[in-house]
Amino acid sequence: MNRQALDDLKQQIPLMGYLQANDWHPARPLSHGRWMGLCPLHGDHKPSFLVDSNKDLFYCYGCGRGGDVIRFAELYHQVRFSQAVALLRQWHGVGPLLHEAARFYRTQLHRHGEAVAYLYERGIRSPELIEHMRIGYAPGGCLRGWLTQLGYPVQALRQAGLVAAAGYDTYRHRVVFPLEGNLYGRSLSATAPPHPFLPGAKGGLYAWYQVRSYPEVILVEGLFDYAALWQAGFHNVTCSMGTNLNARQFRQLCDGPRTVYLAFDADRNGSGQQAAQSLACRLTEEGVNVRTVVLPEGHDPNSFFVRDGDAHQFQSLLEAAQ
Ligand SMILES: [Zn+2]
Repeated sequence: MNRQALDDLKQQIPLMGYLQANDWHPARPLSHGRWMGLCPLHGDHKPSFLVDSNKDLFYCYGCGRGGDVIRFAELYHQVRFSQAVALLRQWHGVGPLLHEAARFYRTQLHRHGEAVAYLYERGIRSPELIEHMRIGYAPGGCLRGWLTQLGYPVQALRQAGLVAAAGYDTYRHRVVFPLEGNLYGRSLSATAPPHPFLPGAKGGLYAWYQVRSYPEVILVEGLFDYAALWQAGFHNVTCSMGTNLNARQFRQLCDGPRTVYLAFDADRNGSGQQAAQSLACRLTEEGVNVRTVVLPEGHDPNSFFVRDGDAHQFQSLLEAAQ
């Protein structure tokens, strides 16, 4: 990619827009279009991350890192320069649209009692958790109208997979979780076709930048497992959305010294435990310290908590993990 193409890409993706789409919020304004907020690149407790929205540059007074949107993507996604450019180009295609769709779905959640009731039944009860995971609801039949009213062409909605070829909203009666560059839509009905992702990659590990600085990390396979653990106070949890990690998710787990607790489903057919074992071997080869958590048979971390398991009991499972 030549210099001009890189400059064009940076023009197309203002740093502030990209940060906000990754759920960064400025804590306070400074003069001349500059903002301070918590640093998304390290475990920051008081705002030390400076963003200059005129120059499209950032600098963190905590971890000492700074640069442009490409540098940010490199650090945030832990990828090399060329991959950061590729991610940004891909994101530029659908990112803003998905961000807008996720915002719309969030406004719908509390207007639909059936969605809130479903979350409640799955153990998702705390408003902080719903806010943290930015959970929304796709009632179906109104996203297309909303986005076209905002000026997005239907063709773009089709390309992003938000609208089916026949013209209707793809997600209908689904609880929606925004991911990096995708939306996960869990149907309220057990008989609906699964298709939980929009076309495109599922992205890296869920909420990885909030977790990576913990010396011990718990990996679960589903977002509802993630939710149950987070709500029980285990904020060092992340999720691979399935037992097959993609290359980026695997690299993320190996990017520094840490202990990884694998808390996959204890399926009766043993598939979750088999997947955990094979992942444990691969991680050990990379020098990662791995422990496998054994849940009661037939349980996943979500059902463990929904059926009366508590944080203390789960902590005992972590301590017993080998
Ligand atoms: Zn920092």
